Amino acid sequence: MPRAPERTPVTPSSICQGVRDDDAVAAATFDELDARLRRVHRDVVDLHFDVLLDLYERRVNKHEEIGVLGREFWQQLHDGGIGLVGAAVFLDDRYLPELALRVAIDQLALLHEEVAHDSRFAVCRNHAEIDAARAEGRIGFLVTMEGVEPLAADIHLLRAFHELGVRCIGLTHVRRNLAGDGGLIAPSGSSPQGLSPFGLAVVDGCEEMGILIDLAHLNPAGVEDVLARTRRPLVISHTNPRRFYDVERNSSDEQMLAVAERGGVVGVSSVLLSPSPGGATAEGFVDQVAYVAELIGIDHVGLGFDFFDFIYRAMPPQERAAFEQQLTTVHLPVDLLDHSHAPAITRLLIERGFSDSDIAKVLRENWLRVIRSADHARV
Ligand SMILES: [Zn+2]
Repeated sequence: MPRAPERTPVTPSSICQGVRDDDAVAAATFDELDARLRRVHRDVVDLHFDVLLDLYERRVNKHEEIGVLGREFWQQLHDGGIGLVGAAVFLDDRYLPELALRVAIDQLALLHEEVAHDSRFAVCRNHAEIDAARAEGRIGFLVTMEGVEPLAADIHLLRAFHELGVRCIGLTHVRRNLAGDGGLIAPSGSSPQGLSPFGLAVVDGCEEMGILIDLAHLNPAGVEDVLARTRRPLVISHTNPRRFYDVERNSSDEQMLAVAERGGVVGVSSVLLSPSPGGATAEGFVDQVAYVAELIGIDHVGLGFDFFDFIYRAMPPQERAAFEQQLTTVHLPVDLLDHSHAPAITRLLIERGFSDSDIAKVLRENWLRVIRSADHARV
């Protein structure tokens, strides 16, 4: 059985018992929380970030100079205490199908070029490289793939992308592709079909090569197929519990329990926290971290922020209108919009009574455990 999180209630009044003066209480509380925050909040792993989409648009379509990662992202990542980012190969509809492979490889080429140009970053392909990057104070990127459109239906390309460093693959985004169907941002109505024979071959290849399989976005029938087909730990890199926002793109309690039973990790996202603006806050995000921890155990919760605001804002008005019509109007939390806001999550976890060791699991250790498990699968 998954273990429930340990809860030692830590409230401002319990920290400072015995101190009478109210201002002194407040100051001591603040100092104590701050010291604990500085100690605990470090080397954070966020397993889903669409940074490569933005990098490609800036470098190729807007002709920006090399150094985008440094100019646009380093400060936020640094301020947010981020140590490792899942950098997703993801393709806009406009590149499908003909340009999918080319744009995907360009995204990876640009990532490597940018990292070669800026020693504050590293591309990591395994746990040892992640450790080395952190020891040198670099922010690491672990390459992931969100939707296998770059493979078309060529299973040999899976090995090619593995060689290029892809270590975690979600079969679909919202749209259908040759592997399967995405879950709709609606309570029902996703395709009842599971994975195609090609999708099953991708799953088999991932397990064989030690690529983590990511269930995020996959329709419920596809999730069933992956669960039935695989034995190794699975992940849901970025999702929200359906209990809070009941759409098939999000994850049911049963799906999250199945991932935990497999030793996997569920990353909580900031994008589909709530159908209404009121629930889309940093507090609402922490409510969901606490909910998932309670449901499937603290060893199986991580962060998959999927910070999206910079992409949403960069969309031309007609593209954003089409996005909202096809998918949904997204309520992004104003107090959790980019990586620089990540310490606020740790502060809230502290205030809610999570122990330092449990917070470390959520911030990094759980993701690092599954990444290490995939490394071992390759040996
Ligand atoms: Zn996504």
